[in-house]
Formats: sequence, structure tokens, C-alpha cells
Amino acid sequence: MAIFDVIVIGGGPSGASAAKEAVERGLSVALFDHTHPRRKACGGGLPVKGIEWMDAPDEAIECHISSISFKLDDIKLKIPVNKGKYVRRDDWDNYLFNRAEEAGAKLFKERVVKIEKNNDSWVVNDSYQSKYIIGADGVNGISRKTFSKKISRDDLFSAFGYYLDIQPEDNEMEFIVGHLPGEEGYIWVFPKKDHYNVGICYNARTSGMRDALDNFVKDRWPGEKIDGKKWKLDETGEEVDCIPFGSAIPSYNNKKLFDAPISGPDWVLCGDAAGHVNPIHGEGLNHAVLGGRLAAQAVSEGDPTKFESYWREHYREDMYHAVTVKHQIYRSWFLKLAFKLGRTPTLFHLLSSIVRDEDKQSMSVFKFWYKLPIAFIQALFGMSHHSLKNET
Ligand SMILES: Cc1cc2nc3c(=O)[nH]c(=O)nc-3n(C[C@H](O)[C@H](O)[C@H](O)COP(=O)(O)OP(=O)(O)OC[C@H]3O[C@@H](n4cnc5c(N)ncnc54)[C@H](O)[C@@H]3O)c2cc1C
Repeated sequence: MAIFDVIVIGGGPSGASAAKEAVERGLSVALFDHTHPRRKACGGGLPVKGIEWMDAPDEAIECHISSISFKLDDIKLKIPVNKGKYVRRDDWDNYLFNRAEEAGAKLFKERVVKIEKNNDSWVVNDSYQSKYIIGADGVNGISRKTFSKKISRDDLFSAFGYYLDIQPEDNEMEFIVGHLPGEEGYIWVFPKKDHYNVGICYNARTSGMRDALDNFVKDRWPGEKIDGKKWKLDETGEEVDCIPFGSAIPSYNNKKLFDAPISGPDWVLCGDAAGHVNPIHGEGLNHAVLGGRLAAQAVSEGDPTKFESYWREHYREDMYHAVTVKHQIYRSWFLKLAFKLGRTPTLFHLLSSIVRDEDKQSMSVFKFWYKLPIAFIQALFGMSHHSLKNET
């Protein structure tokens, strides 16, 4: 039996970050993931919020984001940004996985299929023993099922997309809302270095969303899908790769789910396994990386339950706020009003500072309420922010 202080299950951003941190804090670590190298289904947009938490040096970056835009019907709110970045999930995850090994974690390219308690220790796959387990194996993996309970389908987003082999012309990250079969969800267009990552994120129970994405792709790049993996462009007749990908993302509907324990005396969950994804838009990479490190810190201090207060210190406010407003934000009346008011100089300025992560969440909420009456007056007089004059 191989014996370690801690076994980390899952070598995505959360598990790899946890493993590296745990080693650096003096623990012997085994990191299990049977899939590397692999390309996890993802947009690969590093959230502006918490970008400083990421272990993403220039060599791990695929390209930069120059602006982030939100579109509803013919209104587009385009916000210049200077700290947005994209990663390729095969390259970046592999980088993090190898960094954990370089730090001293022992890697096992093996799937964890069995977790058992034996006196004061955990035994994994009948062959590996540890005092602690860090579960970082994504949504509803073996850790979640062993230590907590499965995240219900009602509290999941589905996300589905294509790697579309067309050379992007600019670096504008786009989010498009409205006119989808379900109320909650959006289409994203992420221009990467040499292709588009285009997809749709929606409530897991909504049907018809994949067709909505195909219709969008057809509108944007007129053509047709061939054999499920190619896109034939009408204009040139060229067939380009259009590789589908998809997976589930936690998207909680109730604050109480964030209050449920995700740790015990000798185990802790982090990343998607902990449900630590922003429920409005499904961004999880920031919480996966920081959460992994904080989980390892708690374990190294001999008390994994400390993670409950550690993660709250850093991103509780965002999670609670997001879960509270999630349903309002996607209502069509709200979107229409928000986009009309969002064009006004006052609210566009505020939206820009939120997107650029220049204010704390509570400060943004406070500013929103006192700026709202001014925005109404500006909207009444048809005023829009000067940078939007050339936008539709
Ligand atoms: C389509 C899509 C687009 C997304 N786009 C974005 C985005 O642009 N920006 C953003 O911030 N977030 C995005 N997300 C969310 C983001 O991908 C996740 O929040 C993030 O990957 C969570 O990291 P993690 O390490 O917790 O889990 P994962 O990245 O899922 O890693 C879990 C690892 O555990 C391994 N594993 C599973 N079971 C076992 C087992 N039994 N034994 C051993 N290993 C196991 C898996 O192989 C995997 O490598 C997107 C998600 C999806 C589905």
C-alpha cells in the first residue's frame, strides 16, 4: 500500500492547484487523473474577476481579450478591457498538472473508482492510503457522490459548443442574450488564436438550445453542418472543422446549496465538485484555482473544515449575490430594460467598472441604486455613452 498525507482526486485546475499548494505546504501528495493530456469542454475565458488568482503566465495564455460585449436584439454594449485572457484547456490544464508534479506531487494517471474508510485513513482503489482526501473531480464525480450528494439537474447548466476553425478578425468576447427557447442562458462567441469557440449555456432542463446555437452559427457564418464535425461555408464551399464539445456546470438556484458543508474532518471538495461556479454565467475557473489552493491550505493546517470560512472570505459575496439575482437577470422584461438603461452614460460607466472588476460587488450594488434615477432621466432624453455612438 502506497501511503500519502493527502490524495487529490481530479487533476483539472482545482485539483492541480490543490496538489501543488499541498506539496508546498509540506505534505506528501498523490494526484489522480486518468485523462491527461485532454481538452476539457470549456470556453477557456479566464474570468476578469479573480484573474490574479490564476496561475496563468504568458506562456500558458492562448490570446488576450480586447473587449467584452453584451448583445440583445440590436443593442450592443461593448466594453474595452485590458486584463481578459483566454487559455486552451488542453495546454493550460497540462501546464498546471505538470507544475504539480514539478513541485513534488506524485501523479497517477488512474481513475479513482473506489474510496473506502479504514480506521483513521482513506483507501483509494484498494492500493493507496491517505489521511486526507481533496475531491476535485468536477461535477458529480466520485468525490461528490461519496462525501456529499449529487447536484440535482435543476441546479446545473448545460453548456455546449463548437471549436470552429475560422480565423477570428478581432479579440471581442461576445455574450448574446434573448430569443432563446429557454429564458435562462446565453450564446458566447470567443475569438481564440486560430479558431472561434462558440457555444450556448443554458438551464439543463431546457430543450431546443442546441438548435438555437446551430441557427446562430448559420446566421453568423452562413453554411451548413456536415457529418456533425464540419461546417461547409456557403460563400467559398470550404469545409472547416466544427468540433462539438459540451458538459454540465453547477448553477445553484438556492443560497442554501452554498451553505451545505463541503468538508469534513478528513475530506474537502473544491472547484466544480464543490459547486463553486457563478450561477449566472457559469464561470468557474477562478474559484477552481483559488478554491483548490485554499482547500490545500485547510488540509495542511490539519482541519479541512477551515475551507468553509476560507472560500467565503474570497468569493462568498459574489456567489450569494449571483444566486439571488439569477432569475431576475434573465427575465426578458429585465433584459430589455437593462440594455436600454445600460446604454446611458451613467449605467454604462457602472457596467464597465463591474466588468473590469474595479469595484467590490457591494459597492456596485450601492452605486446601481443611486445612479438608477439618473439613468432613467438620461434614457428619457435618448442619451447614450459616447463610446456606443457607433454601435448599433
Ligand atoms: C462548455 C463549458 C464552457 C465553460 N467555459 C468557461 C469559461 O469560459 N470560463 C470559466 O471560468 N469557466 C468556464 N466553464 C466552467 C469551468 O470549465 C469549470 O468551472 C472548471 O473546469 C472547474 O475546474 P475543476 O478543476 O473543478 O474541474 P474539471 O476541470 O472538470 O477537472 C476535473 C478533473 O477530474 C478528473 N476526474 C473525474 N473523475 C475522476 C476520477 N474518478 N478519478 C480521477 N480523476 C477524475 C477529470 O478527468 C478532470 O480532469 C465552462 C464549462 C463548460 C462545461
